Amino acid sequence: MESISEVISKILKERKVQGNSVELAKSSLQNPKVKNFLTTHQAEISKDMIAASLTNLYIYAQQVESANDKIVADYQPQLFINGGIIDITYVPTKAKALASQEKQTAKKIELIDLPAKLRQVKLADVEQTPERKLALLEIASFLKSFEQDPHTRGLYLEGDFGVGKTFLLAGLANTIASRGYQVSFLHVPSFIAGLSSHFSDNSLNQEVDRLANVPVLILDDIGAETLSEWSRDDILGVILQKRMDNVLPTFFSSNMDMKQLEEHFAETRNNLDEVKAKRLMERVRFLSKEVFVDGANRRNPS
Ligand code: ADP
Ligand code: MG
Repeated sequence: MESISEVISKILKERKVQGNSVELAKSSLQNPKVKNFLTTHQAEISKDMIAASLTNLYIYAQQVESANDKIVADYQPQLFINGGIIDITYVPTKAKALASQEKQTAKKIELIDLPAKLRQVKLADVEQTPERKLALLEIASFLKSFEQDPHTRGLYLEGDFGVGKTFLLAGLANTIASRGYQVSFLHVPSFIAGLSSHFSDNSLNQEVDRLANVPVLILDDIGAETLSEWSRDDILGVILQKRMDNVLPTFFSSNMDMKQLEEHFAETRNNLDEVKAKRLMERVRFLSKEVFVDGANRRNPS
């Protein structure tokens, strides 16, 4: 076995440091963090232990002092007593822990035809303007109930183009995902427009099933899509019916209020069908509570 001084010399050589190795290693005892550790654990540490741990103390002090060290960027070295010696362990830094937590959260959100930047939106970032207050209160109230009961009714955010409905829902989606629930966040007009080209029959059924059963579904910009009878009754209608049967939280955003949405549902490409529109609207009403979002258009700040 190599002696401590040999080991230290080797390390110093690797790091291109010249000088008396043992003296240098001892200098690590002057490092404030090392000192602090030795004082805190005074009762458990003997002189022999320190002598046997000089290499570790030296490496530790070096890593603490060199903030650019790649290891130190993600993992913080920490001293601990490991039997007869003082040893180093590496714990993820806060930044690293946060990054891996955000990665976990990101996995829980599925964005369908929506920009990836929505993953960055946090509810805490949403400015609490008076116009948004009601929506934020309703969202907070949903989150509280949802914690107790995953079968809580969702919201229907209604308001003009650009007031921040999608932004609010993105914040909500991220909060739900950070609590470990799966969320699908879907842009309805693009999804409906892409139906025929994107899916063979079988995968479309699977997609409908998945959206019908995901713990939380957010349907963005409903009412802006062009519907056929098929996409209204066999896609949207089926998804909403199943979610209603299972009482699964479902959110909507729309430029239309519920009354206007019903009129929109009545008119498909070749037909006018008020009865079917009413049936679909009953599901929307069952699944969500209408909340008006007011405010300036944030897309064109003047
Ligand atoms: P809507 O869905 O109601 O049409 P968006 O949510 O798309 O509106 O918001 C319009 C624009 O304003 C987007 O670019 C969005 O990122 C931005 N925005 C909305 N709310 C906020 C906010 N609270 N803070 C910062 N930017 C916001
Ligand atoms: Mg929107």
